[in-house]
Amino acid sequence: MKVTLPVLQKGWLPTSFEDANTRDAIDIIANGVIALEEKTDKATATLEQQVAEQAKHIEQLQAVVAALSELLVDKGTLDPGVLEVRAQANHDQLNPPDVDPRAVGDHPYRTSPAGASPAEPKVACTKCGDRVAVGDTQITEAGPICDPCHTKQFTG
Ligand SMILES: [Zn+2]
Repeated sequence: MKVTLPVLQKGWLPTSFEDANTRDAIDIIANGVIALEEKTDKATATLEQQVAEQAKHIEQLQAVVAALSELLVDKGTLDPGVLEVRAQANHDQLNPPDVDPRAVGDHPYRTSPAGASPAEPKVACTKCGDRVAVGDTQITEAGPICDPCHTKQFTG
């Protein structure tokens, strides 16, 4: 792709710039810009190709995961509800929510209180709706329920 920039046309520049050295300098800059554009086009094409390849890989992985899940559910070794809860919990663990620094204190570079461990993923109790840490729940056929609700279920 060859581009002729308007600055290279004779008569466009003010008379004071119409000397050979300036024109040469502008020519060099213009060619540099063109070379950069070509490089950018190539880099963009490479990135687009990589994104397309990754999308294909993700589709293949989704197909494998779906097939494995169906197989395990068919064999009765996996409860679809439990799978959903576990998948959500794993996803939450990999994607912790952004911490608003204003909620923590006035240290802009400290995102969690000193000594605090990273937050445990939370799920909603299917009985009372409270969001509780996964470790404080019992997995039931109806979904996860919090420990207090689980205890209540057996004590009346
Ligand atoms: Zn509950």
